[in-house]
Amino acid sequence: MNGKISRGCHKVHQSNFPTYFQMIKNLAMTTKDFVKDDFRLSDMTLWEERYTVCKRCEQFRNSRCISCGCFMKIKTAINASKCPLDKWNDIQLTLKD
Ligand code: SF4
Repeated sequence: MNGKISRGCHKVHQSNFPTYFQMIKNLAMTTKDFVKDDFRLSDMTLWEERYTVCKRCEQFRNSRCISCGCFMKIKTAINASKCPLDKWNDIQLTLKD
């Protein structure tokens, strides 16, 4: 085992950021989802709740996520983006109720 865990489309490193190649793939997937979602941004409540979860997450380093390599202030603002570890699922369910 080389310290990577595959989670769907994302390669997750235990302590380091993904490779540049993997980060480009992750960025491309987020961009594709953003386009498919008609470029919608998160509303302020969703953005704040997502970013709060990220700030408390063990994957959060200097405003970035070490699972996907993304800058979380930006990724959380994209409505269609997803947490690679599915930690935002409860937020989205709460807002739909
Ligand atoms: S996107 Fe998910 S895994 Fe990454 S820092 Fe945020 S909550 Fe943690």
